[in-house]
Amino acid sequence: MRERGLLIVFSGPSGVGKGTVRAKIFDSPDNNLRYSVSMTTRNQRPGEVDGKDYYFRSREYFEQTVHEGQMLEYAEYVGNYYGTPLKAVNQLLDEGYDVMLEIEVQGALQVKEKVPDGVFIFLTPPDLGELRQRLTDRGTDSDKVIEERMVKAREEIHMMSAYDYVIVNDVVDLAAERVKKIIETEHYRVERVIGKYEAMLEEFEEKEVTKL
Ligand code: 5GP
Repeated sequence: MRERGLLIVFSGPSGVGKGTVRAKIFDSPDNNLRYSVSMTTRNQRPGEVDGKDYYFRSREYFEQTVHEGQMLEYAEYVGNYYGTPLKAVNQLLDEGYDVMLEIEVQGALQVKEKVPDGVFIFLTPPDLGELRQRLTDRGTDSDKVIEERMVKAREEIHMMSAYDYVIVNDVVDLAAERVKKIIETEHYRVERVIGKYEAMLEEFEEKEVTKL
């Protein structure tokens, strides 16, 4: 049986480049990593694909999903709901895949309560001026929404202490490499592997006893 995969929670302020870094991570052939597609009530942006970038759904549908206990976590962010469908994540973890959630801080805190052995990675901008510039350059949000996202960004950066690792997105390739190294290393943590070795010792000792 394959070992259960790692749950990786990847957060960072809107506009920091989480999507770009994530795309870079998924670009390189690592068959063990899967992305959890979130559900949202926000409008679809040009180029976004339903079922790939998000499941774009109505508020009613989203609220019903929450009501039925089908979300691992969810949060309201700048006027819209975002959430992680539970079933798909569990299925992938059971199949032995590492699963990455790209979510904001409130949701990440909920996951930490439910899955304390998850790996919590925070992506931060080199500075806030650059973050505002990236949000402006993206050209998808009004000035008002950009200001709301900047307020959120400052709140989120204050929350980085809840995470296990902080990665600066100075150069996308480097940031992606750093995240991949963390994931690889996390697999070797003693608390993740010790069960296997304890079982091995037990089996060995049982055999020794039966030999006597
Ligand atoms: P955007 O509208 O820019 O796509 O996303 C806004 C914020 O919501 C980002 O910080 C993004 O990571 C976060 N987000 C995306 N999906 C989820 C989710 O399933 N749950 C939570 N809590 N946040 C999410």
